[in-house]
This record gives sequence, structure tokens and C-alpha cells, in this order.
Amino acid sequence: MDNCLFCKIAEKKIPATIVYEDDELLAFKDINPAAPVHLLVIPKQHFATLSACTAEHAPLLGRMLALAPKLAAEFGCGVQHAADGTPSAGYKTLINSGPDGGQEVYHLHMHIIGGPHPWRGQR
Ligand code: 5GP
Ligand code: ZN
Repeated sequence: MDNCLFCKIAEKKIPATIVYEDDELLAFKDINPAAPVHLLVIPKQHFATLSACTAEHAPLLGRMLALAPKLAAEFGCGVQHAADGTPSAGYKTLINSGPDGGQEVYHLHMHIIGGPHPWRGQR
């Protein structure tokens, strides 16, 4: 897609700190991190928003989601469970969709936001 920032990152025309890549997906560090860990996972295929996806894209979306715990663990914010099952650490996964959803870059992306931050203890 011409003139799409994240397509250009996927095509390596614009630099980014890439932390994961396969045939379908790319993950890189957010340029303006909201927390100690802030990664973005994108499909290499251009979808403007999550609303451009349909049921046929469920496997791709599932792969994006399944990457989150793997990358979170790699970056030190994976959920830990004590012997009694008490969880600690953790991260948010977030897909903003459309203007009212707070989306700024119109190439589907999932945020992985982890580490101690102000919303801890909030919903
Ligand atoms: P949105 O609000 O669309 O869900 O989030 C867009 C995200 O992309 C923001 O967190 C923003 O910091 C990030 N971002 C915008 N431009 C760039 C860029 O050129 N490189 C990288 N790595 N992240 C970017
Ligand atoms: Zn794009």
C-alpha cells in the first residue's frame, strides 16, 4: 500500500527496531513507548483497520494474538505464576480501531504494553 507508514516498515523502507519477523507478521518497538515494554505487531498484508478483516483472516489474527505472550516473556513482562498460582508482571494487548478507537496509524497493529505503569490496579 503506497504511503502507509507500517507497510514501509514491513518493506524495510523505513527503519524500526524489529523484534520478530516471519512470512506474515512483523513486530517492532513503538517509537514513543507508553511503558517500559511497548511493541507493535503487524500483519505484513495491509489492512487499514481491524474492521477490514473478516472471518477468513481469523488464523492470521490468531497468530498475532498468540505472539503476544511469547514476546512479552522475551521482553521480561510475561505473566508469572507463583507456586500458589498468584499471578505477577503482565502486559496489555490493544488494537485501536478508527478515530473513536484512538487509531492513528491506519495499518492494523496490535500493541503489547508491559512493565510497571500508571494504570496498574486500574481496569
Ligand atoms: P495507534 O494510536 O494507531 O493505535 O498507535 C500507533 C502507534 O504507532 C503509536 O503508539 C505510535 O507511537 C507508533 N508509531 C507512529 N509512528 C511510528 C514510527 O514511525 N515507528 C514506530 N516504530 N512506531 C510508530
Ligand atoms: Zn500498510
